[in-house]
Amino acid sequence: MSVLVTGGTGYIGSHTCVELLNSGEDIVIIDNLYNSKTEVLERIKKITGKDITFYNADVRDKAALTEIFNKHNIDSVIHFAGLKAVGESVEKPMLYYDNNLISTINLCEVMKEHGCKNLVFSSSATVYGNAEKMPLYEDMPLGAINPYGKTKWFIEEILRDEAKTGNWSVVLLRYFNPIGAHESGLIGEDPNGIPNNLMPYISQVAVGRLKELSVFGNDYPTKDGTGVRDYIHVVDLSKGHVKAVEYAREHTGCEAINLGTGTGTSVLELKDAFEKASGKKIPFKIVGRRAGDPPTVYANADKAKKLLNWQAEYDINKMCEDTWRWQSKNPKGY
Ligand code: NAD
Ligand code: UDP
Repeated sequence: MSVLVTGGTGYIGSHTCVELLNSGEDIVIIDNLYNSKTEVLERIKKITGKDITFYNADVRDKAALTEIFNKHNIDSVIHFAGLKAVGESVEKPMLYYDNNLISTINLCEVMKEHGCKNLVFSSSATVYGNAEKMPLYEDMPLGAINPYGKTKWFIEEILRDEAKTGNWSVVLLRYFNPIGAHESGLIGEDPNGIPNNLMPYISQVAVGRLKELSVFGNDYPTKDGTGVRDYIHVVDLSKGHVKAVEYAREHTGCEAINLGTGTGTSVLELKDAFEKASGKKIPFKIVGRRAGDPPTVYANADKAKKLLNWQAEYDINKMCEDTWRWQSKNPKGY
């Protein structure tokens, strides 16, 4: 029995592959390497001492998927493959709808043809849209303010409808802000070009690739005026996926579950924690707000504890230490 991991050479996928292998699962990866490199595979092998079957293919390619399902005894799928840059999705909405929606529909069709019913999907806190109240609970109304967010929301709706036909077991994992890296320093986040997200930006300033951090606004109604988010260590997040696969195997239906810590950290707090962990000064300037950024986002994480018996273990300091180890050992990425 194997777990198929789509997007398994990406940031969250690669860390999840390590946790799956460490928990004794057999895995098969499909990734078209649009946003990742094969070097990752060697690193996963180095950490776990285990072999991985890898297919360089697109999840939209039904023939390729069918061949993989014919060759391997796949009982569960974790579907990470997707495009995730909010700004790019506004510029190229069709690219996002095509890649994210078609890959998911294809995957479900091939799973169905092969009697595979367990699906864990990478969703996001972005599906709560512009929620006014925090923390975010899974039963709050959904929405989205950009094409990327809409792909996650629409896919959730599609999977909820499909699950109503019976016989499926779908877990929609809504991630908050994954940061950090494996503590070996061998795998981590390696964004293309100038990072959009706060943590990779800070770590690239620390390593000298970027000059200074721009803090997007210090006039929000938060503790120090800067944006507050629920950062979660990518290894904690990955362990949540292992639990979600186990849950899917034992249940039917469709459940949405937040994966967050329930704690909010401001931009300046994260910067300070990173300075402490790295011993590097992070020069910064305050600039205007970034369009569309809410002041505060954090999860209620009770459902994950109840259903999956999972909760985050690592704090902000550990997230910064592990990011720094990865970034300083791999200043240019993979
Ligand atoms: P990533 O870009 O590092 O990984 C995604 C992987 O999918 C890449 O390796 C890419 O090459 C691959 N891929 C994309 N389209 C594909 C296709 N059609 N066929 C085959 N492979 C394809 O991103 P990540 O940060 O690891 O995110 C994984 C998933 O989690 C994504 O679906 C993303 O939207 C979701 N997510 C990420 C975050 C975050 O902050 N990183 C937050 C919420 C949700
Ligand atoms: N942020 C910032 N400078 C940056 C990138 C992000 O001040 O270069 C802020 C952003 O306004 C938000 C927080 O950091 O308050 C987290 O942003 P990120 O893009 O990492 O995550 P998201 O906005 O998707 O939650």
